[in-house]
Amino acid sequence: MRAEAAPRPLEPADEELRSSREAESEATRGAIPVAGGTDVLVHWPERLELRDRTYIDLGRLRELRYARLEDGWLELGALATYWDLQQDARIAVEFPLLVDAARVVGAIQIQARGTWAGNVANASPAADGVPALMALGAIVVLASAEGRREVPLDRFYSGYKVMDLRTDDLIAAIRVPRRRLRFHRFLKVGPRRAQAIAKVGAAVVHADEGWRIAAASVAPTVRRCRAVEEYLGGGGRPAAPEDLLPSLRQDVSPIDDLRSNAAYRETVLARVLYDALRDGGAAAG
Ligand SMILES: Cc1cc2nc3c(=O)[nH]c(=O)nc-3n(C[C@H](O)[C@H](O)[C@H](O)COP(=O)(O)OP(=O)(O)OC[C@H]3O[C@@H](n4cnc5c(N)ncnc54)[C@H](O)[C@@H]3O)c2cc1C
Repeated sequence: MRAEAAPRPLEPADEELRSSREAESEATRGAIPVAGGTDVLVHWPERLELRDRTYIDLGRLRELRYARLEDGWLELGALATYWDLQQDARIAVEFPLLVDAARVVGAIQIQARGTWAGNVANASPAADGVPALMALGAIVVLASAEGRREVPLDRFYSGYKVMDLRTDDLIAAIRVPRRRLRFHRFLKVGPRRAQAIAKVGAAVVHADEGWRIAAASVAPTVRRCRAVEEYLGGGGRPAAPEDLLPSLRQDVSPIDDLRSNAAYRETVLARVLYDALRDGGAAAG
């Protein structure tokens, strides 16, 4: 690690974030932000080419650690952790899907340090926070010296670890629309209940606008299952898990890897989705 840049406190967050970035020296251009460090520090010693980079400890920017219910939105600051959401009773009542996801990330130590923004920027196809946010229609708020832009999370990724995050972008916040949900379910299939990465994951939401489904560990990125959504929106009512396969196969492309294999992933995803849809009133049987 070549240098550690310690940014000064921000007030208000976005404006100061921009001027802080503008004032950066060349040494910090292209620097790697560290939030909770639960992904960065796990991989850091292994990747020699990353050792000589500059790292910025965002953890000192306390103003970015917030979770606020606003008019029409829940806004999660860049440093909002899984634990923060579990501790907030109003959010737990209104966004139980996020809390369900937060509870199965790693174990309590990881939940206390790991951030939602870090989960999004880490871009793991097996992430737990991302499918929950995606099913809820979250928007990623990006800030850089050039300004601020917003990207819907379901358009943020374009390939394995490839995303719409430019070198000098920071995820300043994540915005989640406040909607009345008729049904929600967070699904994670792993080898054990804690400290496990998903073999298959999904988040299912039914709101007035229709069904939104996101799946994890079954494609190079967490993937929104638009074909399944359209099938349900068009009146499709699966009578068995296999009825979901034609549309599911348009949405996901599971692979064999050290955690599982493609056939298992496809079969299990169809089954857990079917069970959720049946509980949500969208499947027969
Ligand atoms: C033991 C263990 C168990 C785990 N279990 C799970 C699990 O069950 N489910 C799961 O989903 N994940 C799991 N993880 C992964 C990790 O905890 C999560 O992805 C977490 O949300 C990462 O957040 P962080 O704040 O620690 O990110 P960091 O490690 O600080 O950063 C992760 C990446 O995001 C970038 N980054 C961070 N913040 C920003 C920002 N504001 N703007 C731009 N880029 C940013 C960093 O540069 C880095 O590339 C586990 C990790 C460990 C070590």
